[in-house]
Amino acid sequence: MDAVTEAEQVISAARSLFNRGLTHGSTGNVSLRTAAGILVTPTGSSLGVVTAEELSLIDSTGAHLSGPRPSKEAFLHAAILRARPDANAVVHTHSTYSAAVSCLADVDDANALPPLTAYYAMRVGTLPLLPYHAPGDMSLEELAEQEATRHHALLLSNHGPVVAGMTLSAAMDALEEIEETAKLFLLLRTVPTRPLTETEVAALRPPR
Ligand SMILES: [Zn+2]
Repeated sequence: MDAVTEAEQVISAARSLFNRGLTHGSTGNVSLRTAAGILVTPTGSSLGVVTAEELSLIDSTGAHLSGPRPSKEAFLHAAILRARPDANAVVHTHSTYSAAVSCLADVDDANALPPLTAYYAMRVGTLPLLPYHAPGDMSLEELAEQEATRHHALLLSNHGPVVAGMTLSAAMDALEEIEETAKLFLLLRTVPTRPLTETEVAALRPPR
């Protein structure tokens, strides 16, 4: 079997997100760092139908190098990849439950979700909530770059999660953990809940 190309990896992640309802319409974007630059899904595309030939290539500053115009949120991917030299992939969605948590009035900005499960604690750890920015507000770029030096997963207020990983599958896993934990969090909001204790979290291997 031929090696899966980098563009095919991006498409396979995009399709997987779309087919499982983690993105809708033309929302969500996926990127992967390659030797030639950062491959990113194009603007206005549905992750359900975008093809490998339609991916954009940008540089580390977010400037467009080749292919169709990149997603309007590509600057976010470039900023996070600059902040995290060991990361190679970024996934961003407006997934329902994570987006719902990002709209709550009483979320802890330093950490939007409690460690309800061990997998969440291992794959995500801490999830800072970044303040609301209107689409196209580039002040988000500097803030995301700053926060991403310390956290591989961020939640954008009234918007959704953005997650970096060493590989696309690591970024996907962490994004899905956030979505599932957001779902648990909302299900449990009205009843007394026991999150993992600090000791239990400390006993787990650290998140990547
Ligand atoms: Zn978005």
